[in-house]
Amino acid sequence: MTMLPFSIKKLFFYAYKKGLMKMFGCVFCQVAAHESPAEIVYEDEHCVVFKDINPKAPVHLLAVPRRHISSLNEDLEADEKLLGHLLTVAGRVAKQHGIDGTGYRTVINTNAEAGQTVFHLHLHILGGRILRWPPG
Ligand code: AMP
Ligand code: ZN
Repeated sequence: MTMLPFSIKKLFFYAYKKGLMKMFGCVFCQVAAHESPAEIVYEDEHCVVFKDINPKAPVHLLAVPRRHISSLNEDLEADEKLLGHLLTVAGRVAKQHGIDGTGYRTVINTNAEAGQTVFHLHLHILGGRILRWPPG
């Protein structure tokens, strides 16, 4: 990236800010658009929930907004309803997967030191085993 001309860097930044990452192959945009395979367990006009490809618990689901949002570091004031919706949906799918009674954890990792590897905002829903606290 450091070798790219400034104008190209600006283009990438613009695309990033404008939510055009699908153009550059955002895997969760592709899942949400049914362009990449995933075990989708719930979807509506605002979000999609699918099974994590590398589950860390017997139930490990990811709830993602359909629209590309890279992380909680974006300015999300206009998206408070959408963020609340993700939590409501998380509760619903947790119940459908029978982990509401025993318990489950909802996690959003933001940036490298928290372990974010996919830069499309996603809410992990983990359950079906005892989850230690604090997480590693
Ligand atoms: P994070 O590390 O918080 O960014 O979480 C990314 C999660 O996405 C990891 O748990 C991965 O296993 C999961 N993941 C990556 N690619 C896919 C995919 N194509 N389908 C389902 N889950 C994925
Ligand atoms: Zn995306």
